[in-house]
Amino acid sequence: MERRIVCLEGLNGFEFEDLCTELFKRLGHKNVRLAPRVADTGRDILMDVVTPSRKIEPVIVECKHHLGKTIGRPVIQKLHSAIITFSVKRGLVITTGHFSDEAKKYAKIIKDVRIELINLSDLKRLGEGVGFEIYETSADVPSQSFHICKPSELDKIFRRETNRMISYPKSPKEIIQFLGHDVQVKPAYLLTYSIDRDFVTSTGRMIHSIHVNDAQLLADGRNGELYADNVSEFLGGCEKMPLKNVERLRIPRPPFLLSENEIRKGTVKELVQRHTKPVVYHAGKGDGRRFEKVCSPSSRDIKILYAEKVYVPKWELRYKALKTSYSVAVYAKPRDLLLLQNDFEKCSVCKKEIAPGKRIICNDCGKIGHAEFFTKHSFRCKNCKKTICRSCAIEKREWLILKRRYCRECYRRILK
Ligand SMILES: [Zn+2]
Ligand SMILES: [Zn+2]
Ligand SMILES: [Zn+2]
Repeated sequence: MERRIVCLEGLNGFEFEDLCTELFKRLGHKNVRLAPRVADTGRDILMDVVTPSRKIEPVIVECKHHLGKTIGRPVIQKLHSAIITFSVKRGLVITTGHFSDEAKKYAKIIKDVRIELINLSDLKRLGEGVGFEIYETSADVPSQSFHICKPSELDKIFRRETNRMISYPKSPKEIIQFLGHDVQVKPAYLLTYSIDRDFVTSTGRMIHSIHVNDAQLLADGRNGELYADNVSEFLGGCEKMPLKNVERLRIPRPPFLLSENEIRKGTVKELVQRHTKPVVYHAGKGDGRRFEKVCSPSSRDIKILYAEKVYVPKWELRYKALKTSYSVAVYAKPRDLLLLQNDFEKCSVCKKEIAPGKRIICNDCGKIGHAEFFTKHSFRCKNCKKTICRSCAIEKREWLILKRRYCRECYRRILK
């Protein structure tokens, strides 16, 4: 079960209902689902509870997200009548507040049905048992960090890529030396969101729908900018570690400048924009009239269930290959890297990117070049087969048109 940090202050009523749904599922209740949102009939979640005698009992759950507030008797009375209307036997009120004495008394004296009350501290305790760390305010939420790797481990992973280079007579491993690393951490919020929205025409025909379930996004904790999707995806599912690992390594830690609520607002706005698009449809069958409608989810269709404060480490690895220096910037998780910038992928002559297996490294100076039929920016010495770059190769014309390239040593030897 994935451990989750939950900040109640950041959740709106709908998000709190989603949290309760997830909580009851984790607690092992069956058939947990949100009740269709009709006029407020005082029921939010429906589920089946398996009793110790293995009987299945349907339960109506009322969610009340009222941090620091008191739930009074009327809420319990309303649930009581809903229970009777839907002819079930059990109800439950779950709240982020607490219950008044009157409410508790009322729940106790009802005879025909059973109503359980779960207040904030019960909620925290229940959550703890199934992997939820629940906090009231954003200030209480502890920051975490993504994996802080050992530099030697990063070097080892990165070398899977450099080892594929074409290099002769020495191997890339012998030529490329790991000089050291730098690491920086940046504050971010890791947001888990869902979007549910169907778009229908006035006649009830569905023309577009958006369903995103538990997707993750990283937002910069200082300016709210969203990380590229591939970065969020790469780091998102990765296990986090307590902040003391960052503190122990004395990595400077810039403060968060935006609150969770500011980040939530900005991200919802951005998600609305990303998912807004014009949809073309035709009225009626065949070649009915053509319509265009801009489908845009509203902020209510977007739910952000978790917003975790997390530091994102970014690594710079420094290398030297003979006379040439290289640097590589990566995000890392255990046993895997995401390359952000990689000096090794560029041809030293044309600056174009070269595929990992096609990079030729000069065994004289360490520069990298590529060799294609028309654009030869790297060579092999005609005599000894050494891999050499354009500036280390010496050209010798033979038969007027034929050019041959040699490494310095072979050229000298041939001239003798
Ligand atoms: Zn090139
Ligand atoms: Zn060279
Ligand atoms: Zn040679």
